[in-house]
Amino acid sequence: MARVLNFSAGPATLPEEVLKEAQSELVDYKGSGMSLMEASHRGKEYDAVHQEAVANVTELLNLSDDYAVLFLQGGASSQFAMVPMNLVKEGQVADYTNSGSWAKKAIAEAKILECCHIAADASGEKPARMPRQDELDLAAGSAYLHITSNETIGGIQWKTFPKVDLPLVADMSSDILSRPFDMNPFGLVYAGAQKNLGPSGVTLVIIRKDLAEGVSGKVPTMLRYKTHIEADSLYNTPPTFGIYILMLVTRWIKVKGGLNAMAEINVRKAAKLYAAIDATDFFSGTAAVEDRSDMNVTFRLPSEELETKFIAEAGANGMKGLKGHRSVGGVRASIYNAFPEEGIDTLVEFMKTFEAENG
Ligand SMILES: *Cc1c(COP(=O)(O)O)cnc(C)c1O
Repeated sequence: MARVLNFSAGPATLPEEVLKEAQSELVDYKGSGMSLMEASHRGKEYDAVHQEAVANVTELLNLSDDYAVLFLQGGASSQFAMVPMNLVKEGQVADYTNSGSWAKKAIAEAKILECCHIAADASGEKPARMPRQDELDLAAGSAYLHITSNETIGGIQWKTFPKVDLPLVADMSSDILSRPFDMNPFGLVYAGAQKNLGPSGVTLVIIRKDLAEGVSGKVPTMLRYKTHIEADSLYNTPPTFGIYILMLVTRWIKVKGGLNAMAEINVRKAAKLYAAIDATDFFSGTAAVEDRSDMNVTFRLPSEELETKFIAEAGANGMKGLKGHRSVGGVRASIYNAFPEEGIDTLVEFMKTFEAENG
């Protein structure tokens, strides 16, 4: 059976090596006589997996002891609420940048908690772009500045992070571990696993431990970072199988050469695709050139009819998941870490053929 080229935005393609390794260990995990899925989350088999997953993330991001690596549930969407519940004090506000669909969801939760200050809003810009450093208008005494490092739907990415005198908080769901970055300006980073890290059901949270201390006694136990830091993410039963796959994926990234190697490959993959888009007037990118995402490449064809045809014919040729998000239409190629470079070449060839036949 041939695997298709899976351009889905999330859940997304995983490294084939990882899937095969998991398959080989699925029924009898390392001679334990049971699947890891059936094993106690407090047993030695699972403990080794958990510790390696934490160690891999710590090593890849070069984290100091000031940070805790947590594996939570509820998706990045739960973090939209958990972040302000834990980090914003009574009467305080937090700054948010509005960069599009995902930023808006984070903002909506901060608004429910009545602590949202919009520091910059670029969400209405066409072509889509990120807010600029010089557009930031920060509130006095703000708890943090929230950014969405990569807008998965808009196809835009912060290339350099804003420099501010308060902790940065980032939703990195769709570009975590795709490039190196300095964690020190960040108080907290979170990511649903299903784009760059593993299967859905696990949410990676990296938090500067001191920020978890001031949490109000009114925040329920499961919703406090402090609970999960103290219990090493084992306060309740964690999503053990998802964390196992995340461990294999982070091990795979290390074997490939770490985040510098990932970034080099990702930049090259995206550049090939953007070059194909820019080569003719038949295709047009939707993102401002300087903010183009290396993870989600969004573009349009001359008409919606041609887009529908393009997506259908690509699908018939083994290229799946190219339909743009239902809110914006068009075409979106999601090309995370695990998406193979040869798959980009295949899509570029297909684009040329399609234009020759329909242009
Ligand atoms: C997919 C995505 C989310 C939502 O993640 P869930 O784990 O489904 O809650 C949030 N933010 C960004 C940037 C995403 O790409």
